[in-house]
This record gives sequence, C-alpha cells and structure tokens, in this order.
Amino acid sequence: MSADQIKDSTWREELNERFGWMGGRHGLSFECGGGWRFLLDDLLQRMAATLSDEERQDFQVTQIKEKLGTLRCHVFNGNDRVDALIDSAENASEITCDVCGGRGRLRNSGWLTVRCDEHVDYRG
Ligand SMILES: [Zn+2]
Repeated sequence: MSADQIKDSTWREELNERFGWMGGRHGLSFECGGGWRFLLDDLLQRMAATLSDEERQDFQVTQIKEKLGTLRCHVFNGNDRVDALIDSAENASEITCDVCGGRGRLRNSGWLTVRCDEHVDYRG
C-alpha cells in the first residue's frame, strides 16, 4: 500500500455511505487507523447481513475505536450473532497492521499498536 493510500481517509466516508445507518443520527465514527478499513468493511457487512429488518430498527453501533492497540466495537441492541462477529473482528485486529492492513503484531513502544515490520515507527 502506497503512502498516498495510507493517508487517504476517504474510507471513512465510503463506509458511512454504505453503513452509516448503523451509527444513528450522526453516522459512524472510526477512531482507529486506516489499515483496519477492510476488517471494518467486512464486520459491518456481516452485521448488516445477520440483522433482520426488525432488528435493524433498534440496532446501533455506538463506538468503533482502537484501545490498548486493538479494535473495540460497541453496539446497542446487538445479539449473539453480532457479538460473535465483533469478537472475530477484534481478534483479527490483533494481527492486522493498523497502518497498511498487512500482517502485524502487538508492539509496545510506550503505547500499544498492532504493526507490521515496515510500520513499527509510523506516525500518521
Ligand atoms: Zn503496515
């Protein structure tokens, strides 16, 4: 992935165009690096697919963020299927570089991040 693609933040808008309805009135906010965009795209698609029309009415994604290096996704009115999808995405974030989406691991350089070898010291 090139530096331009890494800096590109239009992925947030793109995901909001497709899945913003899950975020309620203000849409979704993504407090994390762009390397996780594919992981989030996959998670949002799967959550949308597992919800019935009725379940969609009250469902809301309340927070998507990085915490202690890995992904955290919080929802309102979820269910077991949604929880399993979130668990799986959060686990995947533990081995996904949050800069480029490549294979990474949790690093501690004063703060925790999941990074590939190339982006160990990257600051966006
Ligand atoms: Zn990387």
